Amino acid sequence: MKMPVIFSGHGDPMIALRDDEITRTLAAVGRQFLTTFGKPQAILAISAHWYTVQGTLIQTSASPPQINDMFGFPRELYEVRYPAKGSPELAARVQQILGAQVSVDNDWGIDHGIWTIFVHMFPAADIPIVELSIDRNITPAGAFETGKKLSALRDEGYLIFGSGNVVHNLREVDWNNPNGTDKTLNFNQKIIDAVTAGDAEKIISYEKIPDAAYAVPTPEHFLPLIYCLGAAQGDNAMVFNNVCNLGSMAMTGFTFS
Ligand code: ZN
Repeated sequence: MKMPVIFSGHGDPMIALRDDEITRTLAAVGRQFLTTFGKPQAILAISAHWYTVQGTLIQTSASPPQINDMFGFPRELYEVRYPAKGSPELAARVQQILGAQVSVDNDWGIDHGIWTIFVHMFPAADIPIVELSIDRNITPAGAFETGKKLSALRDEGYLIFGSGNVVHNLREVDWNNPNGTDKTLNFNQKIIDAVTAGDAEKIISYEKIPDAAYAVPTPEHFLPLIYCLGAAQGDNAMVFNNVCNLGSMAMTGFTFS
């Protein structure tokens, strides 16, 4: 069966330890996915937190380390373990598909953009993960094209997963605001409207949407959604966690199938 594509918001890393509506939804999305599609061969994960100057990188290690790439949080967060294996087979397929566009780098591992979500979505940690980096020089159109090329993996039992945020502005974060600002809510809704309408062009040219400079001050948290849209190839989008919080964060996720 053709695997779906999933994009999830991750927000602040403490999400790994929380038990709330957002994390329970992540768990429900994971359960429903496994019930409907079965366990994927492996997951190709595109995280906002592997944003590389050396072009697009791929991990080929059979046992990638967990990367705790967050600073100043309570010790219990660093004690969370997500011991997923890697998949040299999937990495080899990605190299076949992307050719000279991708090079191997095993200095990174499974970063917090992925494991803080997967402790909820796939708590058994029994699905191998390969991270693909985001090329710092890639354009939104380039990310879309790359996702499109990778969509072939969906027919081979691989799940393509992106982790970032539709709205992510750390300079504007307000820890005392449980909701989103008007700018956050408006931009988030415009993205939801475009994604559910299958308007990829609008997402690729997101910089033209009002308040884009506020919602997406830097592209790394938004680009995973664009890779996912390319891989989704016009499949129906379902929204989950349509929640804005901390003022300038949107936790919105999509499944495409
Ligand atoms: Zn992040």
